[in-house]
Amino acid sequence: MTTTSPTPLDSARLTRAQRATLPLNADVVQALAEQHGVCIRPLAMRRIDTTTGRVDIVPVPCGSTRDDQCPPCADKARRLRMAQCCQGWHVEQEPVTQRTKPTEEHQALMAARADLLAAYTECKALGDEDTAEQITESVAELDTELRAAGVRGRLAPLDPPPRPVKRSTRRRQDAPNLPRRPIQRRTIGQVFAGRYRPSTFLTLTLDSYGRVDTDGAAVDPDHYDYRRAARDAIHFPALVDRFWQNTRRCVGWDVQYFGTVEPQKRGAPHFHAALRGTIPRAELRAITAATYHQIWWPNHDQLVYTGDRLPVWDTRAKTFTDPDTGTPLPTWDQACANSTKPAHVVRFGEQVHVKGILGGTEEAGRHIGYLTKYLTKTIGQAAGLGEHATDAQREHVHRLHAELQITPCSPRCAVWLLYGIQPKGARHSMTPGRCKGKAHKPEHLGIAGRRVLVSRKWSNKTLDDHRAERSAFVRQLLEQAGIQPDHGPQDGPYRWERTAPTDPDVPARPVLLLHAVAERQRWKAEYTAAQLATSGSPPTTNYSTAANQAA
Ligand SMILES: [Zn+2]
Ligand SMILES: [Zn+2]
Repeated sequence: MTTTSPTPLDSARLTRAQRATLPLNADVVQALAEQHGVCIRPLAMRRIDTTTGRVDIVPVPCGSTRDDQCPPCADKARRLRMAQCCQGWHVEQEPVTQRTKPTEEHQALMAARADLLAAYTECKALGDEDTAEQITESVAELDTELRAAGVRGRLAPLDPPPRPVKRSTRRRQDAPNLPRRPIQRRTIGQVFAGRYRPSTFLTLTLDSYGRVDTDGAAVDPDHYDYRRAARDAIHFPALVDRFWQNTRRCVGWDVQYFGTVEPQKRGAPHFHAALRGTIPRAELRAITAATYHQIWWPNHDQLVYTGDRLPVWDTRAKTFTDPDTGTPLPTWDQACANSTKPAHVVRFGEQVHVKGILGGTEEAGRHIGYLTKYLTKTIGQAAGLGEHATDAQREHVHRLHAELQITPCSPRCAVWLLYGIQPKGARHSMTPGRCKGKAHKPEHLGIAGRRVLVSRKWSNKTLDDHRAERSAFVRQLLEQAGIQPDHGPQDGPYRWERTAPTDPDVPARPVLLLHAVAERQRWKAEYTAAQLATSGSPPTTNYSTAANQAA
């Protein structure tokens, strides 16, 4: 039997067009790396073993969360989020750890600190600066001791900052038509029929701004309310925050959630959340309807400066002025003090989608997948604005973006100058109307904040904790099987150094990638061996995912 080998190519005899169709070495290696789940654009770091002096160039994953930048890293990040979501959703025991009780040492240190604080205030009042300075040093020493003893939280400063001016009652944002119950310390859901502890999948959307077609583009762009759409998008995270506050107050327990902010096809953000436990549907609807967020910013309905006529910085007065008259523009605080009504109010739309979901079911897994589905995409991509977008879609996004360019994103936004108001912290390097905030960028559609919002007591772990947990799982399995990884805890400690691409010891990217692929294969082989040794059965896909995560 003859072996089938590919026909060798004689590149000298190929035309330029034919040669152009051949894959590049770098592309082949990249495809291989992707197939093995290895980062395709790693950072070459120099790892120095400080015990043995051995120096290696090690590929460190880029850690991108975006699929168009690095598919393996993005996939890994998404899987970690899935694990985080899964761990908190149907928890049956309170995940909150009890704080340790303060010891006598803690209390003694704190008492000494309080005495010093009192002495400091007295010295300050008497004008005894020298003693005050000595006390400052002693307090700093005490603080170090307190931290070393494991005390967390803010310690009272020696010079308390001036009390903030209290907001008047007209700025209250509570929802008066909702019941209000004292909040219990409970975060887990109720059990039904003695054994079912369902949780909830919730979707909140914004109001309609005008009719849209099936691709999400405005049917009549001239009558679509782009201004409200832009402002609602920018203030959406604040509205979501307000929603959880109201929910906790209304239902009377410490509701926990894992949620993602995603764009709808029309470009407006909506919020999907896995919520631990259940809340009656009618109650969730009532809370959504009653929730609103007022933006107490200066009015910004009318542009004052456009085109080339823009405010000018007065270097002597250190303030922005009118280009014609030279009069200083009102500062942020002045403009705020003058405003009598909120510049904008955000509310949710009428659509509230609520679904009860039992833990460990196929449905739970599907919804976790749904929640995290678009995390590897940019907002624009997730809204379906790729290369296949229709003309109407492009026009729609163009209009929304034009509005976002003249919508201030924060009190420090340089867009305020177009409305004749100096932003907070105005300085000469600001260009009127130009703000680097993500909200103004076309691919963000005004959605500038975090994509994943997780409440603090969801799993009581940070993302880093979840990451460490996964690698610990794999390491433990290897240890159980008696497999010693190539470089384990017995090596090191390591010192890490950045490299420059021109360093003679840094290999080209394809070489670095191949190194990483080989490493990954070795890892997987070890892992499979460990799996077989401990359980006697071949690993399931689930476990190999864990290995991918940890490696
Ligand atoms: Zn990567
Ligand atoms: Zn801005």
